[in-house]
Amino acid sequence: MQKFEHPNICADGADRASVPLKHLEILWINTGTLCNIACANCYIESTPINDRLSYITRDEVARSITGLAHHGVSPASFGITGGEPFMNPYILEILHDLLGKGGKVLLLSNAMKPLQRPHIMAGLKALSDAQKEGLTIRVSLDDATPNLHDKERGAGSFAMSCSGIEWLLHHGFQTTIAGRLWNRDERLVRENYAALFAEKNWSIDARHRESLMLFPEMEEETDPPEITTACWGILNKSPNDIMCSNSRMLVKRAGAKGPSLVACTLLPYDERFDLGEEMGKADQAISLQHPWCASFCVLGGGACSA
Ligand code: SF4
Ligand code: SF4
Repeated sequence: MQKFEHPNICADGADRASVPLKHLEILWINTGTLCNIACANCYIESTPINDRLSYITRDEVARSITGLAHHGVSPASFGITGGEPFMNPYILEILHDLLGKGGKVLLLSNAMKPLQRPHIMAGLKALSDAQKEGLTIRVSLDDATPNLHDKERGAGSFAMSCSGIEWLLHHGFQTTIAGRLWNRDERLVRENYAALFAEKNWSIDARHRESLMLFPEMEEETDPPEITTACWGILNKSPNDIMCSNSRMLVKRAGAKGPSLVACTLLPYDERFDLGEEMGKADQAISLQHPWCASFCVLGGGACSA
């Protein structure tokens, strides 16, 4: 038997670890994989032509949330990710519905052209104060200067994202930044961002971890070990520390009749982590059957916002 082959047993015969759902803290909604840019290290491989995950509709989101409730699962908050969510033609309606019920929504965006279209900006401005209060938009800015950011995302993208951030802040949206450490000292990186925020006069606190989330490089190990039930004790970790203990994601595969629920944001294409279209398996324990489970989550400390 090969490593990571059997759902419950590791190649050496030990019991494979699994992660039960403790509580659905965040339901991610993948709006589709199309993106206006093609970043060098996009984990979901989004590009202007990758439509492996289609645009999810307002009705599909609403039906899925009702389906989850029918099975006794109510998300405490929602996350919206893509691709670039503002490319989804239903995004304003989806936001309106989720925020209308007093929901908390975290939306990940590059704040570039898709956000900066007149009808999207008008739709965002039309949100009520209460809806705006529930919404946080986290914009990716890979570094405090254009060099690394544009190398990753294309020439001119730093300036374009900065103009989107400016618009969001000017119109009173809670805006946070997703940055990267690039293997540098965190204190130094925060100082660099603080200088940028001061220069731009942005009211974002670079010392605050949620206002400026800094992500380490996600380096895939070439031959990670399998995670057995004994590993929790050896590593002094709990399954409750792993993001599939508190999150799920809705995806709509190209050609599918409707959305599926998947175990995590990292593995939307791997059908072994698909929990079906009926929403009844939301609380199924997730078998750690992918090398990324080991290298990113159990050994690397990945987070659902990574
Ligand atoms: S902006 Fe985000 S979704 Fe789009 S290619 Fe870059 S990392 Fe991927
Ligand atoms: S990659 Fe991480 S979050 Fe996803 S199923 Fe594996 S352990 Fe869970």
